[in-house]
Amino acid sequence: MNSFTLALDIGGTKILGAVIDKSDTILFTEKAPTKAGKGKNEVFSQITSLVENLKNKLRDENPTAEIAAIGAGCPGLIENGTILFTPNLPLNQFPLKTALEDTFNVPVSVGNDATLSMSGEWKYGAAKGLNHVIGIFVGTGIGGGLIFNGEVYEGAYGIGSEIGHMIVNPEGPFCGCGAKGCLESVASKTGMLKEIKKQIKRGRKSDLERFFEKGYGLLKSSMLREAIEKKDELAIEVLDEACRYLGVATASLLNLLNPEMIVYGGGIVSSLGTYMLPKILESARRYALQKNFSKTTLTCSSLKDYACLMGAHDLALNRK
Ligand SMILES: [Zn+2]
Repeated sequence: MNSFTLALDIGGTKILGAVIDKSDTILFTEKAPTKAGKGKNEVFSQITSLVENLKNKLRDENPTAEIAAIGAGCPGLIENGTILFTPNLPLNQFPLKTALEDTFNVPVSVGNDATLSMSGEWKYGAAKGLNHVIGIFVGTGIGGGLIFNGEVYEGAYGIGSEIGHMIVNPEGPFCGCGAKGCLESVASKTGMLKEIKKQIKRGRKSDLERFFEKGYGLLKSSMLREAIEKKDELAIEVLDEACRYLGVATASLLNLLNPEMIVYGGGIVSSLGTYMLPKILESARRYALQKNFSKTTLTCSSLKDYACLMGAHDLALNRK
């Protein structure tokens, strides 16, 4: 029991790391806000100091302990441990696996964060033991993960399960990918923030104004939760609309794939899941074929902010 895995969840807003033992228990975590605007070298040095800090914490507790492998999750397109393209991070064309292996001298595995969040929930969380599961992870963007016949499914070329880029309204706003009306453009934090700012500019009053006046460029889940708790009209309207679209996407996925379960996760759901789930269900019920809707369990992630870390732990253990 003296070797451990080190799991990383590298996102555009924050980098989260953990040391996890062989019984799949998270021993320590460490978090840092991503300095995405400062370029590749700065972000990589943030990642390595976070790893160092976690290693030191482990060594203080247990002097003979060793990190046997590192698993890392990151948004975007990843091939053989190299990040080919990633939104919101300055790590395009970055060989993360090799760079971390050269620095720490342990085997490193890298995967897409949404796929890893899905396998985290499947191996250790809400979807444990099931064979057909879909994960929808709502954060800065929207990631998706699919488990088919008891295996992770990523499509013929490993670039599928992009649930965030399912078109839910072809007349909708532009998405970061260049298309119009993707789920991500109307239901992610980025999409919601755009709508909130547009409405405030038009003169709508909202509790969220005070955050934007302070110069926040991002919509934090905690800000939105505060506004919802205060029954802020604009926040409720925008989040309800996001839930309606998550329900529309859910209905299409139910009809197409007939899964046993759909798991909703990501920062916004970790923070506001109890509010969101009934709204998503109501919308999905309206749009899905009745027999598909009634057979499937729709639920929130049980690992919450740790879903990707647990998926990265599983990836590191299996050295995929
Ligand atoms: Zn898109």
